[in-house]
Amino acid sequence: MSGERVFAYGGGWLDRAGDVRADAERLAALRSDERTAVLALWRDRCLVTAEDVPVRLTGDAAARVFAVADETVFLGLDAGAAVFAADLTGQPEARALDVAGAVSAVDVRRLAGRLSAAEAAAQAYGRGLLHWHRQQRWCGACGATTAARAGGHVRVCTAAECGRLHFPRIEPAVIVLVEAPGEPGRCLLARHAGSPEGSYSTLAGFVEVGESLEDAVHRELAEEVGVTVTDLVYQGSQAWPFPAGLMVGFRATAVSDEVRVDGVELLEARWFTREELRARVAAGRPLGRVDSIDRHLLGSWLDADGRDS
Ligand SMILES: [Zn+2]
Repeated sequence: MSGERVFAYGGGWLDRAGDVRADAERLAALRSDERTAVLALWRDRCLVTAEDVPVRLTGDAAARVFAVADETVFLGLDAGAAVFAADLTGQPEARALDVAGAVSAVDVRRLAGRLSAAEAAAQAYGRGLLHWHRQQRWCGACGATTAARAGGHVRVCTAAECGRLHFPRIEPAVIVLVEAPGEPGRCLLARHAGSPEGSYSTLAGFVEVGESLEDAVHRELAEEVGVTVTDLVYQGSQAWPFPAGLMVGFRATAVSDEVRVDGVELLEARWFTREELRARVAAGRPLGRVDSIDRHLLGSWLDADGRDS
């Protein structure tokens, strides 16, 4: 993975073991294997101990969770041992905590920076997959109920005349650091509707049907800030299963520094020099969320060239 940047919630830590998903007998055996670990989730949150550590249940504790879970998914193999995620959403919170031996239910993003990268990725993966199961209980084609197959990586319509397969959804979005043409180096940040005064971030938007990632970059920037860009350069991508995102990062150069915002989705957009951004950081205003690709896009731009600051 030389040269590849690994962002929070990704990284391929688990062997996803696609061959095991297709093997119902092996999956059944793994559920009762003493080395198997189960992550327990409730309404998209991970269940944690008093030390804010997500529970990883084995043995009898794992069996108790399997017995009451609404859905169980096979995440993969960790050094040869199976890892499952179980959804306790159907239980009252107190019961879910009790079954899992946990004391509270916490969004994994609130634990950012405290969990290991592998643990954060496994929790986010389980969360995204279990969330999808709750949204795909009925067939979108015929309305019949669906049932999980392949360790929870597909759902099949139970109506014999339909039988359609449903796969987990991924919703890609582009996120772009736009540089101004010429010197001094400046980047474009915007304040979104609902965000507090003085809170700026890079521009982002969902990819629409029939668009390439590049098409989405050009359209979003034209729509949101009236900017035309050239020289798109891919910067990396981030799994963002909250609930189903994939953030694809780019850097691009504007052909002009004129900016026009709609005043609805975006309240303000303006250019920042590196010096201004560093001053903001020094004043205690972080460059985006610590666990986000946004932070990386800004941080790498700041580090890329200090000559004009
Ligand atoms: Zn159907």
